[in-house]
Formats: sequence, C-alpha cells, structure tokens
Amino acid sequence: MIPIARPMIGDEEKRAVLEVLESGMLAQGSRVEAFEKAFAEMCGAKHAIATSSGTTALHVALLAHGIGPGDEVITTPFTFIASANSILYVGAKPVFVDIDPVTFNLDPDGVERAITPRTRAILPVHLFGLPCDMAALTDIAARHGLTIIEDACQAHGAEHLGRRVGSFGTACFSLYPTKNITSAEGGMVTTPDDAVAESCRLLRQHGMRRRYYHDEIGYNFRMTDVHAAIGLAQLRKLERFNAARAANAAFYDAHLCGVTTPVAPAGYRHVYHQYTIRVPDGKRDALADHLRQQGVGTGIYYPVAIHQQTYYTEQLGYRLHLPEAESAASEVLSLPVHPALSRSDLETVVTAINTFMGS
Ligand SMILES: *Cc1c(COP(=O)(O)O)cnc(C)c1O
Repeated sequence: MIPIARPMIGDEEKRAVLEVLESGMLAQGSRVEAFEKAFAEMCGAKHAIATSSGTTALHVALLAHGIGPGDEVITTPFTFIASANSILYVGAKPVFVDIDPVTFNLDPDGVERAITPRTRAILPVHLFGLPCDMAALTDIAARHGLTIIEDACQAHGAEHLGRRVGSFGTACFSLYPTKNITSAEGGMVTTPDDAVAESCRLLRQHGMRRRYYHDEIGYNFRMTDVHAAIGLAQLRKLERFNAARAANAAFYDAHLCGVTTPVAPAGYRHVYHQYTIRVPDGKRDALADHLRQQGVGTGIYYPVAIHQQTYYTEQLGYRLHLPEAESAASEVLSLPVHPALSRSDLETVVTAINTFMGS
C-alpha cells in the first residue's frame, strides 16, 4: 500500500532523542529554546513559542490577543476542526465565510462582507499548504482594525509575495506526524509582537513568570525537550521535504487526466501538505475505492464542512448554507504526495486514476 502520509524519521532524529534521554533533562528546556529560535528564523518571525500541539498554539494565540466572549472571529468552514474549536475554547464565536472553489481558501470579499461591530479577528487557514491571499486579508484587517491569526498548521515554509507564512503577524503551526515536518506532537506560535509572545509563554506554563508565583490563569501546553529535539532535526530537512513534495505535485500536474488538479497561482509558494484533486459527478468515493484496490491510500480532507458538523448544528445552532465549502467536501480527494514516494509510486497513482477516469 502506498500510504497517504508517512513521517520521515532518520538517524538524526533518533540520535537527537537519545541525547535528550541521556541528558536527564526531559521537560521544556534547552532543546525547546533552540527549536524556537531556529523556527523563528525559518519563518522570518521575531518570536516563536513552542507548545504541545497546533491546537494549543491556536488557543494561546487567541487568548494572547485578548479575544474572548462577545467577540467574533471570521474563519473558513473548510478546514480541520481545531481551527474553529480554538475560537470556541476562548468563548468567542466562529463566523464562517465561504471559500474560493479554486484555491479552497477563504474568499477575501466574503470576509469583508461578514465584518460586524463585534468582529475582532480573522483566522485564515492556509489549507493544504497554499497560502491565503494575505495581501487582501491584511488590507481588510488594517482598514477595519482587526487582528489576523494565521492557521499555518499545514503550511511550513509556504510563501505569498516573497514572504513566508508566519511572518505576516501572529501565526500557528502544527508538528503532528502527518504535517510537512513533525515533532511527534507539537505546535508553534510565531509573532512580531513582544507582548503577545510574552503572553503565550505565560499561558503555556500556568501563568508562571517566577517559579510558583501565578499572576494569571494558564495551562500546561508545554513542549518537551524530547519533542523539540525531533522537531529541530526535522526543521533542517524542511526545504528538502518541501522540494520533494513540489516535485511530486509537478509530476501529477503533468500526467493526471479527467480530474481538477490543485493550483498554485503566481506569487504563491504552495508546499503541498496535501495534493488535493476534485473529482466531479459523484465519482469521488468510487475513485477512492478503485485506488485502494490498486494499493493507493487516499484521504478526504474534509468530508464535512465545520458549519455542518453535529456539534455546530445541534449544540450551537448553526444553520448556514455555504455552497462552495459543501461542494468541496463532496468532491475532494487527497493523493499521496509525501517525500517518501518513488517514481514508480507516482506512476502507479497516475495510471490508476487515468484508467478509472477514462473508463
Ligand atoms: C493539524 C491542524 C491543526 C491542529 O494541529 P494539532 O497539532 O493536530 O493540534 C489545526 N489546524 C489545521 C488546519 C491543521 O491541519
């Protein structure tokens, strides 16, 4: 089976973990600090604050920007649930705006129309590794006095207009095993703002500035040195991994027939966390079955838009119709694009798809 995702763990990661284990210093320490510094450099950000996951990175970033009850945060319904749930964790309201069907990302015009006096922030998600239109979104945010918190959990190293995601303002990354780089579990907040950085550091460690003095309520959202050691070794390979993903994507672009392949418009660097095609005419699930029979794993990210998830409809009372997000949910199929694929794996995927779509 050609898997949809495969973490690339080498000797560097194994050695780094052993060094931490042998040092006896396991919790948040020098490896975390080194990882934060290197991660900030990778993005071109002033600060990076490591957390236990992408979800906790989003949670502390929203809190650090003072977002809470009574506030509205505009985001996309076509994303992993954590993007929207983190808004609920802080007591604010997710306001869903439909996506651009070509990029799968938030439509900036829709964002502008959704702004109300209660809107405090925009939470764009760089889905599948393609950045949102950050020029349009930062312009809207500036004109309306809004904060942008990027969900860059799928977009390590992605760029728009020559700038890396994570360098536009406050951004959150995930280091889960399927992401472009991993620390097994982990997350990162990047920010240019000294006060936001300080607040994130306090929130991840029980509001503790001085040992056992607690000035505010915080959490245990720390990253361990074991995880940071893996993350640091992975970070050194990010460019290589992203180049391999882009080369695999280019192969599919050149050879796939009968399906809609993903776009990377001029001015955008797509890092292909997922290579997501659209399969028309209700054939998506049959194609996925056919690929499974041919030994190809696929993924559906995401089968249900967030405004239609049971918790959101039954508990929160959302009654929205967002046609582009809903149609994407019924047509998308993600193919293996990870760096471990061989040329013959790619050929297997292409032949299986072209045979099915041509028949
Ligand atoms: C993975 C992911 C998250 C959450 O990250 P975890 O590390 O799994 O908590 C949030 N948003 C998006 C878009 C993601 O893909």
